[in-house]
Amino acid sequence: MCGFDSERIASLAGDIGAAESTVALTGAGVSTASGIPSFRGEDGIWNEWDPNAFHRRRLDADPAGFWADRVDLRAALVGDDPEPNAAHDALAAMEADGHLDAVLTQNVDGLHTAAGSDRVVELHGTNRRVRCADCGATEPAEPAFEQARGGHLPPRCDCGGVYRPDVVLFGESLGDSALERAQRLARESDVFLAVGSSLSVRPAALLPRIAVDAGATLAVVNFDETPQDGAADYLFREDVTTVLPALSDRL
Ligand SMILES: [Zn+2]
Repeated sequence: MCGFDSERIASLAGDIGAAESTVALTGAGVSTASGIPSFRGEDGIWNEWDPNAFHRRRLDADPAGFWADRVDLRAALVGDDPEPNAAHDALAAMEADGHLDAVLTQNVDGLHTAAGSDRVVELHGTNRRVRCADCGATEPAEPAFEQARGGHLPPRCDCGGVYRPDVVLFGESLGDSALERAQRLARESDVFLAVGSSLSVRPAALLPRIAVDAGATLAVVNFDETPQDGAADYLFREDVTTVLPALSDRL
């Protein structure tokens, strides 16, 4: 089952062509190809940065300090102004061609949307937006970061409320609506692509299982082993930027 060959790509493309619904779940492996450091693991951001600095409790107790650290974190994450890579582009092309219903992503960098994907479920929110903690208004993140960099800590909404990143912080649970949408899409899928995710952290650990239990064909594309490999009909231990363009080309 292991290894990258054009026959299995063609076979998977055939399954997708025959499917009524295909969805993709993407994880950190799709972002690292754009130069974004991963959050977990040996070289992960949370080995270098103290996660407690970005905990919900810190935001509540010390919003100015939270934002000062957040400015530094953002510089580390998007310092080189990352752009979508071939994997993002392939998924966007598959959607545009009618072969992909949705992208469910663990990533918060907004690169699927930047690549042109329209139907994206951002399970952990997005760093491209901020949200007012009082009135709930959402705004593009950059002006809030400009405020913060200029010494206006914490940045505030016109209503006076403190802005917060529109992501799921430590100490918070996933939003019900995004999770429910993702679970429904997984359940209704005929083909489920799990791409660049270790599939070890909820809800990513659950979604392929939901799809398989409902009868979907599962394809796993990841360099490292995942807990779902045994359930996979297709297993590609390959670079996501190689496999997805090859797949898109065959559709
Ligand atoms: Zn507000």
